[in-house]
Amino acid sequence: MLDFLRPKTVVCAYCRATDKEGVARTLSAVGGALSVTWHTAACPHYAADLILADGEKRP
Ligand SMILES: [Zn+2]
Repeated sequence: MLDFLRPKTVVCAYCRATDKEGVARTLSAVGGALSVTWHTAACPHYAADLILADGEKRP
């Protein structure tokens, strides 16, 4: 019933971290669908996602 509220897990193509081994995650709500991406702490994509997320909060 609440499936639409459950974040879709996206595996990073760079570090391929999962929710088991990932230490950092980023959330995004593109197109109304919530998704979560896991990264290792050293993944450059994590840093990039943080910048993107930060930019969305500041118009
Ligand atoms: Zn990553």
